Amino acid sequence: MQDINLHLITTDPVSLPACAEKRITLSVLRLDKIHPYVSGNKFFKLHHYLQEAKLQRKKTIVTYGGAWSNHILATAAACRLHQFHSIGIIRGERSSSPSATLQKAAELGMELIFLSRDEFNNQKRNPRYDNEGCYYISEGGFGIPGAEGAASITDHCTKQDYTHFCCAAGTGTMTAGLIKSTLSHQQVTSISVLKNNTQLETDIQQLTGHIADKLSVIHAYHFGGYAKYKAELIDFMNSFYRQTGIPTDFVYTGKLFFGLLDLITSNYFPSGSNMLVIHSGGLQGNASLKKGTLIF
Ligand SMILES: *Cc1c(COP(=O)(O)O)cnc(C)c1O
Repeated sequence: MQDINLHLITTDPVSLPACAEKRITLSVLRLDKIHPYVSGNKFFKLHHYLQEAKLQRKKTIVTYGGAWSNHILATAAACRLHQFHSIGIIRGERSSSPSATLQKAAELGMELIFLSRDEFNNQKRNPRYDNEGCYYISEGGFGIPGAEGAASITDHCTKQDYTHFCCAAGTGTMTAGLIKSTLSHQQVTSISVLKNNTQLETDIQQLTGHIADKLSVIHAYHFGGYAKYKAELIDFMNSFYRQTGIPTDFVYTGKLFFGLLDLITSNYFPSGSNMLVIHSGGLQGNASLKKGTLIF
């Protein structure tokens, strides 16, 4: 497996007419560059879990996810690197044509166990493979160690330069990490990719331990729900790539940039804002789209 290389992270300024018009600068922290399919933020979120598993002398990491889960694949890769056995518990029946994500996870040595939706949800609460040697990581890496790992994302930029840190949210773990690591006057804007996830603010609070004044969660850009999309999103991703050379994924970062540019256009961010957007990776998931949908 190709190594994960944190030296490849860059901060790319993007110049778009919408930003220039509102006198806003926008830079992108390119966590997507660290590996072709180990999703940027997942690598950071897994760090403390794997350290803890090592300290507890566990041999096996067990975690949960869907057929196209970035978290499943990142866990498989991280376990391979750290010499853990890994078990992925997958939502839904085994398919005769497994997703590219699951094929790669299996190639990396992950053992895959398929459960029906009901069984899966049950399992998440009462792990059945509960034995001495196993260390459990919850779906999406949600948890305080995950947030602490995500907090170190800002070590890879000149933190004091920005007024706003922006990211996509699934479980909210990365958002919680940014709340922890940014300075008190800096704002964190989080774009939720799930439909009506009214739990999200509470979940984030649970990880940070307090209500953060600096946090704004935006629920308006889910495009129908998790992993749902519309032609408008795909068109945006293609045109964003043409204008900036930055590829995005349709589950997280496409919705993130779409939402941020829409918010910029509607004067949501004050003129003079200096925004850092976290490109959290996830590009491998685009393989689930029909060939030719995206130009990159
Ligand atoms: C998992 C993921 C997120 C969401 O992170 P959370 O910590 O669950 O909110 C964002 N972007 C990408 C590319 C991801 O894979």
